[in-house]
Amino acid sequence: MSLEDIRKRVEAAEVSAGREAGSVRLIAVSKLQPPERVEAILHEGHRLFGENRVQEAQGKWPAWQERFEGVELHLLGPLQSNKARGAMELFDAIHSVDRPKIARTIARLAQEMGRCPELFLQINTGEEPQKAGVLPAEADGFVEECRSLDLPVAGLMCIPPVEEEPALHFALLAKIADRNGLDGLSMGMSGDFERAIAQGATHVRVGSAIFGERPKAEA
Ligand SMILES: *Cc1c(COP(=O)(O)O)cnc(C)c1O
Repeated sequence: MSLEDIRKRVEAAEVSAGREAGSVRLIAVSKLQPPERVEAILHEGHRLFGENRVQEAQGKWPAWQERFEGVELHLLGPLQSNKARGAMELFDAIHSVDRPKIARTIARLAQEMGRCPELFLQINTGEEPQKAGVLPAEADGFVEECRSLDLPVAGLMCIPPVEEEPALHFALLAKIADRNGLDGLSMGMSGDFERAIAQGATHVRVGSAIFGERPKAEA
């Protein structure tokens, strides 16, 4: 697959869902990818990228941001409190606000820094013990708490369980967002972004389908 192929598939999914052209933002997930692959996508004009780790992103993106204008970076992976400041300096959006404690840390830093990235609250729709995010039953309370902290909540994010039909999880996330008056839905990856768009995704996070298989992370 190429970037162009994926763009076309996103457009086709928008059309078949009866959605406005360009209503879905394609985040190219560049984590762990060899730099030459990422540069190729930058040269093709793509500017919206997703990363999983603050440190990895800090190591490679500032140099690209110098060379390529208009780069927008979204953090997709878990955020530790001690990395929050660095994350808020580098990223334009954080999709992995997954617990009240980190929300409060971000709120405190936002006060101090006078700016805050757009935030997506991660919901553990599959209620998986090993997965980050608040449980669906706690989602409304978490949205309310984040709003009371004056955080810029753009929407919700989920990563469905690998073994299950993702459409059910996308539908659940859309329902929770709707009843909380949230427009943003960060859902859908390489294997299921078209199904996510059918359920209302506003941000799809596509890595391997654009860049090819990732080298494995070092343990
Ligand atoms: C790695 C990752 C993606 C991209 O996964 P692909 O299957 O390569 O498209 C999307 N979202 C999150 C949170 C990820 O960690």
